[in-house]
Formats: sequence, structure tokens, C-alpha cells
Amino acid sequence: MVLVCGTGTEVGKTWVAARLLADLRQRGLRVAARKPAQSFDIGQHGDRLGGATDAEVLGSASGEHPDQVCHPSRSYRRAMAPPIAADALGLASFTVADLVGELNWPADGIDVGLVETAGGVRSPQADDGDACDMALALAPDLIILVSDAGLGTINSIRLSMDALIRTPGTEAGVPVVVVLNRYDGNHEIHRRNHAWLDRRDGYRIVTLPGDESALADLVTGR
Ligand SMILES: [Mg+2]
Repeated sequence: MVLVCGTGTEVGKTWVAARLLADLRQRGLRVAARKPAQSFDIGQHGDRLGGATDAEVLGSASGEHPDQVCHPSRSYRRAMAPPIAADALGLASFTVADLVGELNWPADGIDVGLVETAGGVRSPQADDGDACDMALALAPDLIILVSDAGLGTINSIRLSMDALIRTPGTEAGVPVVVVLNRYDGNHEIHRRNHAWLDRRDGYRIVTLPGDESALADLVTGR
């Protein structure tokens, strides 16, 4: 199972996850995607703001119905961290264990399961935990840390990696791959950030768009 985390919100976790799912399917692998909880804003007339939900984007990439990707009762109609949205809407609180217990993988078997968290690695996912706690509870085979490529990203990536790696219980070392998303090889800051992280931190780094097959190779262990 692959856990997709981000250095923050709006870094492109869902886009990266969808690209990966499409690539894996193209290789003939059976995939499934899960978004344990999602949130989005609703307009005055009950219409959803901000385009497709994460469950819709992931489902269209994995070939599943959005309700399979994220249970309707875990779709919060308020663009806030899911447990905060639940509270703001007067809905019941929930725990990381609730979310993990609700993950319902296809009975006929899959080759790769992908779980997308909400927001950044320290963002609340449930009443009692953040994405690091989700990582600990799920014990994924690989964590994908999606990040921006531009100014400020070295700080965000290092803080996120520290949080992920130092989460008690993960010392055993779940491998993490950093995805520098929206990477432009002609952009000097992007190039220099990539080189700096590579040389000084030794992180495993993939740049997107462009390196989709390298990311799929990491996931399939090739
Ligand atoms: Mg997303």
C-alpha cells in the first residue's frame, strides 16, 4: 500500500496520485484508491465549489466510483481539515482508527492500493491524529511526499520528512520518496532546490511532470 502525503495543502497530491494510478493501470496492474476523509466547500445553492472532489479525480483514475474512494459520510461540506469540518458542521468526531477501519479494499484483490491523506503531514486527519499517525496506523510499503518545487520547498520538505521519519514507531523505516511537483527543469530555483536536496539530504526524489515512470517503478519495486 502506498500512502500519499503532502508538505501542505494544494501541492498536487491528488494530481500526482491520479497520474500514478493511471500509469500503474497502463502496466496492467489492478489498483484501488482511497481518500479516508475529504472536505470541500458548497455554494449557496448546494453546488460544490472548486471543481471535482478528490474522490472523483482518484476514482476516475483508478476506475472506481467516487463513493468507493471516499465514503459519502466522510465527505465534509466545509473546506477545512476533516475533523475540524466535522466539528464545524456539528457532526460526530472520529479517530484515526475509525478511518483505518473503514478502508474497504476490493474483495477480488488488487496489486496496489493507494491512500491519499488530507493537507500536510501534520494536518489533522481525525480527532486524535495527523497524517504521521495515519502512516503509523497504516504501515504503508511506501510513502510519497508531494511537494512544490519552488522557493521555500526545502524547508517544507525537511520539516515534513523529519515529522514522518521521527514519528514514533516508524523507525523501522518506511521508505519515502519526495515528489517535486510542477517541476520545471528550465526554472533555476527548481533545479537548484532539486540539486540541494539531492546532495545535502540524500532524499529519493522524483520530479513531475516527466518522471512518471520512475515513480511507478518505485511503487512496483522495479
Ligand atoms: Mg487532494
